[in-house]
Amino acid sequence: MMLPPGVSEEAFRAAIHEFTAALGADQVFTSEDDLSLYRDAYTPYRGMPDKEIVASAAVAPVSVEQVQRVVHIANKHRLPLFATSTGRNLGYGGAAPTLSGSVVVDLKRMNRVVEVNVTDCYAVLEPGVSFIELSHYLRERNIPLLVSAAENGAGGPVGNSLDHGVGFLGDNFARVCGIEAVLPNGEVIRTGSGAVSNGKLWPVYKYGFGPDVSGLFPQANFGIVTKMIFWLEPEPERMQGFSVSSSKHDDFGPMVDAIQMLRHKGIIRSSGARNPLRAANNSTVGMRSRNIPEVERLLSSPGDGAASAWDALSIATGIPNASVNGTVWGPAKIVVATLDHAREHFAKLLPHATFSAGTARDFPLDLATVPVDQWVGLGMPNLWGFQRLANQGVNRGHYYFSPLFKAQADDIFAMNRTVRKVMADANEPEILKRWGWQGGGGPFPKTYVLYYDFLVYDDAGLNARHLKLFDRLVKTCAEHGWAEYRAPAGFQDLVAGVYANNNSALRRFCETMKDAVDPNGILSPGRGGIWPRRYRKE
Ligand SMILES: Cc1cc2nc3c(=O)[nH]c(=O)nc-3n(C[C@H](O)[C@H](O)[C@H](O)COP(=O)(O)OP(=O)(O)OC[C@H]3O[C@@H](n4cnc5c(N)ncnc54)[C@H](O)[C@@H]3O)c2cc1C
Repeated sequence: MMLPPGVSEEAFRAAIHEFTAALGADQVFTSEDDLSLYRDAYTPYRGMPDKEIVASAAVAPVSVEQVQRVVHIANKHRLPLFATSTGRNLGYGGAAPTLSGSVVVDLKRMNRVVEVNVTDCYAVLEPGVSFIELSHYLRERNIPLLVSAAENGAGGPVGNSLDHGVGFLGDNFARVCGIEAVLPNGEVIRTGSGAVSNGKLWPVYKYGFGPDVSGLFPQANFGIVTKMIFWLEPEPERMQGFSVSSSKHDDFGPMVDAIQMLRHKGIIRSSGARNPLRAANNSTVGMRSRNIPEVERLLSSPGDGAASAWDALSIATGIPNASVNGTVWGPAKIVVATLDHAREHFAKLLPHATFSAGTARDFPLDLATVPVDQWVGLGMPNLWGFQRLANQGVNRGHYYFSPLFKAQADDIFAMNRTVRKVMADANEPEILKRWGWQGGGGPFPKTYVLYYDFLVYDDAGLNARHLKLFDRLVKTCAEHGWAEYRAPAGFQDLVAGVYANNNSALRRFCETMKDAVDPNGILSPGRGGIWPRRYRKE
């Protein structure tokens, strides 16, 4: 039997007994079979049983009152809990806890869409509602609202936004207007305007008065979220993407600046930048390497190739050296006018660049006419992403290295040089080959992020080497001022350690709050790198 650290077998058994009395025997899980569902199916520690982070038990409350009872029992026995909503955080830890031996509080059964308000465009959700379920709920009722779904449609707005995840409309926590949570002492709190008794403004004004403490709940351990106000997006009349490309290497900088300026002005809704020629040999999931030896040679040469060499190669291969993209939506007339504006904007700046408008998609969508791999980008969540992984033979999963960097060409080049050097120095040619050269995308409006998937293999030795490389990448990027926005469960301390300004003042502040609100250290110890006193290595 796996026991949480610092908890005796006697206390653990007593707690399980009390959970059973509170929730019913069929909602308390301790068998190996049942607990396998709370292992990270994509664990980076495959083949390393002593390192894998596993739960000791799981419980599935169905109401706020039951969550409170679970918290009460955990306090009594000083038992660490770990809350998940839909529990599909694949690539960042799955449904597994941060601390081995924790009891997972699985909130999948709390799956009511409490309210959808069409006038003010929001939903009040319980944690177990998935993106696919919410999308079906809206379509079945002909409600013309879209949910900002992640590519993994089995995840949900609550869990996704609580890990600062992103949907097709970008930053999902930015859509959270208020939170209801059970605190570590069992009390229920509502944040923002939800703190006004009988208040009307909870779903529409997020700050309320005084400190906005909603930000204490994502990537942290200050409460178990039991409800969330999540803003939805009115279905547009039309959605249309566009891209601009050029064979000239030195166009990349002005193109990135130009696309970002359209974003800053609020003219376009999403943006991204790539160098298709430099990325021609990438083989990350979803990409097929073109295996062009000259690309590899230039990338590996000092200064990673002169602009003139890249220009010549672009002409020889027909693959552009610079490409940016954006998305526009709204009334059809406005989409047409915005695309005209973007076309003129780029034509003035770079007359030789090629502007291409994507397919116009009019709502309500006729899904029969939309290829399934485009559904998510149009607000129709599905599970296609898993098919994409399977098609590429990825059957042990992956975990994400997800650094943020500035949405500027210099930073993109510098980040690529840095990462490639770390990978080359580590003598990991396969990883380097898959990386190739990465551009960036902007679910967050003023920064780029990339998602590089470290594949998991059956070979434990290989997995262990990759873990070391991941560690080195995070630390080296930090030396250059880049940091991860999110991290798999086993890397919480590593990534939190990067946010160490002024003798880790931020971490120490969080620890002070943690000790005050959770003196028994029961809630998600280690999440976000925040450890309660009892588990802290001072
Ligand atoms: C093919 C594929 C595609 C993906 N695409 C995307 C994508 O487009 N965008 C993206 O962001 N991610 C993506 N992911 C990663 C991940 O699957 C999603 O982010 C998913 O939404 C997260 O899982 P979830 O929604 O079930 O959240 P959960 O696993 O329920 O929660 C995530 C974390 O939030 C915290 N938490 C959850 N619920 C609570 C609560 N009630 N109270 C307190 N804390 C809580 C916990 O720390 C938990 O580990 C993808 C993964 C795969 C495999």
